[in-house]
Amino acid sequence: MTNIPKDVVEKEAEQLFENWPSDDAAGSEFFFTGGSTEIRNSSSTSQSLSSQLMGVQNIKDLKRGGGVPNPAAHIEVVDDLDDFVVDRVEIVEDSQYEDLFFAVKSKIYARFDFIRILSMFFGDVPMTARDLVLNSGDFHLIEYLKTTTTDYFAVSQLAYLYALDTMGVDTVRFREQDGCPICSAHDGVLYSVRNVLNLLSSGEFLTHPYCECQWDPVIYREMYSGPLEGNLNLPDYNLRNGLVLKSVPIEMKSDIEDSLDGWESDFDSVSFINIGDYILNEVDDVDDSSGVVVVDHAGTLVVHNSYVDRFGPADFIREFRKAKLLPKVVDVNELKGSQVYFIGGRSAYHHEGRYWDINTGECLS
Ligand SMILES: [Zn+2]
Ligand SMILES: [Zn+2]
Repeated sequence: MTNIPKDVVEKEAEQLFENWPSDDAAGSEFFFTGGSTEIRNSSSTSQSLSSQLMGVQNIKDLKRGGGVPNPAAHIEVVDDLDDFVVDRVEIVEDSQYEDLFFAVKSKIYARFDFIRILSMFFGDVPMTARDLVLNSGDFHLIEYLKTTTTDYFAVSQLAYLYALDTMGVDTVRFREQDGCPICSAHDGVLYSVRNVLNLLSSGEFLTHPYCECQWDPVIYREMYSGPLEGNLNLPDYNLRNGLVLKSVPIEMKSDIEDSLDGWESDFDSVSFINIGDYILNEVDDVDDSSGVVVVDHAGTLVVHNSYVDRFGPADFIREFRKAKLLPKVVDVNELKGSQVYFIGGRSAYHHEGRYWDINTGECLS
């Protein structure tokens, strides 16, 4: 695996990001229309809307979980989205659209070594990184965007999602970054890349203009077929003394390392594979493997390498660590006074997110 184009392109992309002007935003207007954030002063004509939003006058109220219901109150809606949108970074020059597309696309391409993969399609023809990264579809879109938006974030999200689409990635997970309640509601939710692309390229938003949030690629390894095949996992490497990581899914590297941070483990490697196959072939003492995503087996922590619903390998590791820390039985005297629930015919105290049998102290779920 050669790293030459990856390093060069990554550096160029990094520089473009760092030098991006961010203080030219004053006085500019939204160009996209039909977004979800157009908050008007409400009048008595929209009865149904105001009764749905009783007591909610601004985004801060939504974040607090709504105000005090008072159907008679006159509701004056305040647009306080600005409090949550920190940087309204604008694109000010025509040439910056292409630069931004190139920077965003090459950054995500470089992560998957996709520039090298693309160059193999062209055989002996010498190509620049720009020739490889930007295609005719991008140039059409760039021309269109020049006349319709100056929203830096919307343009970069489009470039990013088109890059994923080209690499055969069809699902993304929303990662909230701007602290606003609209975006928080989408945090961790999966979306189809094509659907979000359709939305953004027709001038609409999943959340709001100038949304700084990010999308994580979601690659179902058991189903993926596309140009990244055979290049989806990192070669084995040493994370720290005595802990080797095997077949880490490229796109989850930092999240996985984060989930293992500070864990004094009793295994010496963590291996990411299709756990159903692994249990079937290697483990004798697990009767029912359905629902199992992590096993600690023969000195190796084996972690399922793909998503299950909206949760991925790093989430599995975090849950596994949490469960390991919890005792299997507690002293019921210490839980007296906790809320009591009924689970499958037994009574249980609810404590620290788990349920404990009120007689035996056993952890029920
Ligand atoms: Zn937001
Ligand atoms: Zn956002």
